[in-house]
Amino acid sequence: MIDNNVFENKTAAYFTLGCKLNFAETSTIGKELAARGIRKVRTGETADICVINTCSVTELADKKCRQAIRRIQKQHPKALTIVTGCYAQLKPEEVAGIPGVDLVLGAEQKLDILQYLDGLDKKPESAIHTSPSKNIREFVPSCSTDDRTRHFLKVQDGCDYYCSFCTIPFARGRSRNGTIASMVGQAQEVARQGGKEIVLTGVNIGDFGKSTGETFIDLIRALDEVEGILRYRISSIEPNLITDEAIDFVANSKRFAPHFHIPLQSGSDAVLKLMRRHYDTALFRHKIECIKQALPQAFIGVDVIVGTRGETDEFFEEAYRFIESLDISQLHVFSYSERPGTQALKIDHTVDPKAKHARSKALLDLSDSKLHAFYDAHTGEKAEVLFEKARKGGLMHGFTANYIKVETPYDTALVNQSVPVRLLGWNEEKTALKVELI
Ligand code: SF4
Repeated sequence: MIDNNVFENKTAAYFTLGCKLNFAETSTIGKELAARGIRKVRTGETADICVINTCSVTELADKKCRQAIRRIQKQHPKALTIVTGCYAQLKPEEVAGIPGVDLVLGAEQKLDILQYLDGLDKKPESAIHTSPSKNIREFVPSCSTDDRTRHFLKVQDGCDYYCSFCTIPFARGRSRNGTIASMVGQAQEVARQGGKEIVLTGVNIGDFGKSTGETFIDLIRALDEVEGILRYRISSIEPNLITDEAIDFVANSKRFAPHFHIPLQSGSDAVLKLMRRHYDTALFRHKIECIKQALPQAFIGVDVIVGTRGETDEFFEEAYRFIESLDISQLHVFSYSERPGTQALKIDHTVDPKAKHARSKALLDLSDSKLHAFYDAHTGEKAEVLFEKARKGGLMHGFTANYIKVETPYDTALVNQSVPVRLLGWNEEKTALKVELI
């Protein structure tokens, strides 16, 4: 039993690296600590506890985590330093070996953090608490509330796919989810707090329902009925799990935005096979065509990895041509990085860093031209923009339902409001469209 007095007047600082799921979970950790009287540190203060929620999606992500841990320790030298998240789950000894790290918590332990704080004045007896990934089965609900406008609702966690290049199933365990009723309850709570937009997040959200006997389509149907929420976005969904029914529902729904984010990973069937993905390029093209037919204005973002083992020059050329031919709006390009314990390491052909860099650049240039074409195609149209609270150089930003970023002179009255606008031309930096309020 923890003595509540030890938490009185204590402060905590939170740091998140990686994906939206991590941001949602850090927010839950923060709420748990706040409920016990540990307040969030103010700017300029040093904290009693630092919680660092890490990512391990690539070798570079691990490196960034190590750098962040060192930097945070310098900023908060007397704090109890707790490191959790995917890097902590996958490489607990490596993390515990970083000077100044007091506690390493795995994926299962991170959302039960209080039980590991058995006294803030003494260092914990055991620095590492993790469970084997196959034992991580509990679904812990999380919803981030850092921004009044956009909230990230975790609907699913873990993955059963075991793609050959990926360590996420080892870091986050098997696929699992909360119930539709609990998701609706959380969405209602967001609406009560004035939140207007919810992004559904997870590792493999199309898999929603596996652990509760429900379905993704029933989840989005139920969420669409929650009064007060203006928009939902489906963050990232595997192409083989986007059903025609779901596309049709989004096209006719009250609140789901015409915005899809779909991982392709490679536009070469041979490479998709090596990656052990669950679809081929024909299925991917079919899904894009279905979306565009039902929702011609939809924004479609696509993830691609370059330089995976087995991606020869010919396969990359083929992939490039395939991606170029798709009616999509933006690419998120990642460079392959070797992950210990993955099946991809058994593939002989490797891609040298120079070629990887060139492939990444080619796809980033293609992404730029697709994004510009998408924005240009919608310039001059009327749209509803949900404005956000951040202020930058006298300007504020917001997004249309189909994810076009816009900017306008800052006006407090517009924060968290859905406002009708006309989309004008590009701003000077070509990062957003200027708008006229109508
Ligand atoms: S679908 Fe594949 S790439 Fe995505 S998390 Fe699961 S194993 Fe990793």
